[in-house]
Amino acid sequence: MLDHPHAPPASPSLDERALAKALSGHHFIGGRFVAAHGRRSFAVHNPATGEEIARAAEGDAHDVATAVENAAHAQVSWARTPARKRGALVAQCAALLTEHAEELARLIALETGKALRTESRVEAGVVADILSFFGGLGSELKGESVPFAPDVLAVTVREPLGVVGAIIPWNVPMLLMALKIAPALVAGNTVVVKSAEEAPLAVLRVCELMNRILPPGCFNMLSGFGPECGAPLVEHPKVRKLTFTGSVEVGRIVARAAAEKLIPVTLELGGKSPMIVFADCDFEKTVMGAITSMRFTRQGQSCTAASRIYVERGLFERFVDALAAKVDAMVMGDPLDEKTDIGAIISPGQFEKVEGFIAEGLATPGAAARVCSAMPKDPALKKGLFLRPHIFTGLPRESRLVREEIFGPVTCVFPFDDAEAVLAEANDSEYGLAASLWTNNLKRGLDLAHRLEAGLVQINQNLVVQANLSYGGVKSSGLGKEASLEAMLEHFTHKKTIMVNYG
Ligand code: ADP
Repeated sequence: MLDHPHAPPASPSLDERALAKALSGHHFIGGRFVAAHGRRSFAVHNPATGEEIARAAEGDAHDVATAVENAAHAQVSWARTPARKRGALVAQCAALLTEHAEELARLIALETGKALRTESRVEAGVVADILSFFGGLGSELKGESVPFAPDVLAVTVREPLGVVGAIIPWNVPMLLMALKIAPALVAGNTVVVKSAEEAPLAVLRVCELMNRILPPGCFNMLSGFGPECGAPLVEHPKVRKLTFTGSVEVGRIVARAAAEKLIPVTLELGGKSPMIVFADCDFEKTVMGAITSMRFTRQGQSCTAASRIYVERGLFERFVDALAAKVDAMVMGDPLDEKTDIGAIISPGQFEKVEGFIAEGLATPGAAARVCSAMPKDPALKKGLFLRPHIFTGLPRESRLVREEIFGPVTCVFPFDDAEAVLAEANDSEYGLAASLWTNNLKRGLDLAHRLEAGLVQINQNLVVQANLSYGGVKSSGLGKEASLEAMLEHFTHKKTIMVNYG
């Protein structure tokens, strides 16, 4: 193992480019920066300019084995650390990340293309919030006493599962990682995270910062590609729990590996989330709600994006006009510029995929698109992956744009006449992650909320993940819940029964 030759700065740095370079080329294993075993690295790009901003260590099975061995070694004493002490350490990490929040926000904006003001700062804040929430839950790892027989004391205790393998995507990498590592650590597990190839830097910095507080080996970070680094992690025999956020396709691979080893798995996969707007809604609030629900400020790169919007016919034209006007007024540009609302698409591959959907939509007879927000004019951004938001109408229900997850700034709006028919349409999807309803008729809203096939239904709002509220989908959107006490207890511990016969 090699120590990092040019350690990143100890205090918060607002020079995101220098920090990106300083983080280059290393995993974080056993409490220190470690070069990749194969000495290989891959380029990390700024999606807004196309420039190479860093190189990430290209992990392989050997790196995975080193990280898992370190995590397994650390887990023995971490599990014996009192639960409240573990929680207190995670809460201390939250405080440290709060001190570094602006730095982390700038770094995530640089590597993901997400606008600093509308997205990246929000993510950095939520990460600290999630850590502080779980940090307070150490004393909730309680068991029960079970009436069994006279002279027998029967109790259950919550025990950690061991080493957790966590695989994360690039769209909200710090936040989605926090949902995994915070409950895992507080429950007494240790963690090996495999970051997404497109966004390995901010999560590596988070890992390094948290390792200033946590014992070495509790939280390890690998970068690398799915098949070469992710696959050996999910297959490693000492990894006793898997938690994954990403595509349905890779989710199935992870689930198969879990089945082979007979270990528990949590999956947070795709979505095609419906937004249902009734004519009696609060109009202005609902139009703004469509913008947040569709995550236009994240270039639509969200599994909960409201990519199917159903509007009661009487309101349809007015709604589409108002939505298009509002999105059109949003500023697309340099993610690090305070004026920017909408940044860049993560990678050329994703850009092409979304462009393909748009081309197909535009070529569909009867379909039309409102194309919003001007392209940035700054010559420095001419190689940036900027894609104008598209609001489609007139698409047939069987269109790929209506059925598949696009993960880009593209939504489809439909008129509807009947609440039962729109409910059936909303549920006619392989996905079931999130949904929202917009109406002032709460009786109808609640009735539909109970019958929508989704893990999360919101009426008259559409917020992102909130600590303490279980989050996770049904159908192909996933298995298990995250973000809550229940998620920590059910997915990161097992219940052991201990019986004492004192007769
Ligand atoms: P996306 O399309 O959003 O990139 P993916 O599901 O392809 O979603 O990737 C999510 C995460 O899964 C990334 O960290 C990626 O490297 C990882 N991954 C991809 N393929 C595999 C695999 N075969 N085994 C384990 N992890 C993988």
